Amino acid sequence: MYKIDATDNMKELMGSYFKSLEAGNKKIAWCTSVGPAELLRSFGFEVYFPENHGALLGATRTAMEFIPEAVKCGYSGHVCSYTTSDIGAFLKNETPLQKHYDMKGVPKPDIIAYNTNQCREVEDWFTFYADHFECPIVGIQPPRHLDEVSQDEVDLVVKQFKKMIPTCEEVSGQKFDLAKLKSVLKLSKEATLLWQQVLKTSTAMNAPISFFDGTIHMGPIVVLRGTQEAKDYYSLLLDELQEKIKNNEGFLPQAKCRIFWEGMPIWGKLRMMSDLFSQNEAAVVASTYCSSWVFDKFDEDDPWNSMARAYTEIFINRSEKVKMQMLRDWFEEYSIDGIVYHDTKTCFNNSNAKFGMPQRLSDQTGVPSLIIEGDLCDLRFFSEGQSITKIETFVEQIQDSKVFG
Ligand code: SF4
Repeated sequence: MYKIDATDNMKELMGSYFKSLEAGNKKIAWCTSVGPAELLRSFGFEVYFPENHGALLGATRTAMEFIPEAVKCGYSGHVCSYTTSDIGAFLKNETPLQKHYDMKGVPKPDIIAYNTNQCREVEDWFTFYADHFECPIVGIQPPRHLDEVSQDEVDLVVKQFKKMIPTCEEVSGQKFDLAKLKSVLKLSKEATLLWQQVLKTSTAMNAPISFFDGTIHMGPIVVLRGTQEAKDYYSLLLDELQEKIKNNEGFLPQAKCRIFWEGMPIWGKLRMMSDLFSQNEAAVVASTYCSSWVFDKFDEDDPWNSMARAYTEIFINRSEKVKMQMLRDWFEEYSIDGIVYHDTKTCFNNSNAKFGMPQRLSDQTGVPSLIIEGDLCDLRFFSEGQSITKIETFVEQIQDSKVFG
């Protein structure tokens, strides 16, 4: 049975991260997953990520119990199910963190920070908590969906980053320290580059890490960016995966085709999906989702510009033209035979199947595409039987066309 040994280290690392949130030694900042974590850490905050909690609610399939609580409170059941499940869980005072990490509950925020580079939903979501806890909230609202991110846009975002400083100083009781920011950013860059190399190991034809494994191993790059622990973990994971490549040991040696996953994971169906592709001898080797935490523009010698640029240039925040170019590059780099778009019902922002991109990209590249409907947390929007039929037919068609093509 194929196993990545570093998984045990990752579980331990995530466990101690959650414990440290409850230790009470440091003030707590809540932050969006692609938000200004490095700046917050430079002020000594422990950083908690509600989206990570949303993913946990999805993966443990508890989200469905909590979404109706948020709906009762006026949130539509058709908006981001991270938002509705997280708010619903909070209203019920329940969380899988109690069972899985022995925590009392989610940690109380001293400050809340968001970046709308991914969506406006995070601002609404986090404002709910800022109101509830009567807690300071700071936000970055970069220009969205650009073909090119010019210095004008970077300057604007730098100003927004710097505007956070007085509130962070007041809440943390610490003066802003540029040297500290540079050292956190350096660690963050080193970890993100290691994460990028981890993902790229699956350019090998006998790929050592699948998209589904990647969604688990990305935990530290989301919640521990800017720490030595994250860097050490990805160093360990990379060594193991490189060793596997040397030994020609992949997660699906008999793979007959290589698939790209576009969009959010279906958290409550990760295992089922992973098994389904494996049983059909299709290796899902790359994704836009896992690549979202590669910030290769970070530069500790130019911290403000490089943070502003890296966080504004992420895939989800780009024009369709740029997204298509990025996908074409990934197709080539990972030798992709087909792409599956997850059309996520409650996340418009991370779904690229609604405006004709699949057809246009397939016409340009010859890489066939499939759209499946589902959701990140709300399984009412996912039809398992229909998706199995669609995926099996799609994979069969790709494999046939490779044999006869
Ligand atoms: S990007 Fe989508 S899933 Fe993530 S917070 Fe925004 S709406 Fe929710």
